[in-house]
Amino acid sequence: MSQFINFDDIDKYGPQTYGAVFEIAPSELDRVEVAAVGPVTIEVRAEKGPLPGEYIADGTAVFTADFTCSRCVEPYPVAQHSAFHVRFRPRPAVSADEEEIEITAAEELDVEYYAERQVSLRDFAIEQIQLSVPMKPLCEESCLGLCPQCGANRNREACDCSTSVVDERWGALQGIREELARKKDI
Ligand SMILES: [Zn+2]
Ligand SMILES: [Zn+2]
Repeated sequence: MSQFINFDDIDKYGPQTYGAVFEIAPSELDRVEVAAVGPVTIEVRAEKGPLPGEYIADGTAVFTADFTCSRCVEPYPVAQHSAFHVRFRPRPAVSADEEEIEITAAEELDVEYYAERQVSLRDFAIEQIQLSVPMKPLCEESCLGLCPQCGANRNREACDCSTSVVDERWGALQGIREELARKKDI
């Protein structure tokens, strides 16, 4: 099975389907939030698009991974099944129109410009994992995070410093109340 989407094959034989499984190391992803990643299964159907030189790829990426929680810094398991739709267009020659091209690229997020007539499915798999990582990964929406004072994971243990912080706040509130009560008396 080919590990590249080949545009010449599509021209010659019509729509093509591809399927491949890739082992990807977390270090290849350039995302510190990914602690571990399992094999990635990519399935793609690619065909000619309506524009000259345009090709359209539809498919899915399926994998499991461990993301690092942004609050408690513990890894947690994720099962991803993401669908993608990408339009490949020939990379335009650099010219006076360059500015215009940049605007178009920013507006159309699913467009990728190609220089070679084949696209690596492995690079595609890496991109799909990168896109699946949230800005702030959370093991749970209600994750309590780490104690800013002693670093204890509050999901697992209630440390003493957290109660003393509450005590201090409560104490401050008591002080305000007493002050208010005194002002009333005057
Ligand atoms: Zn967490
Ligand atoms: Zn603490």
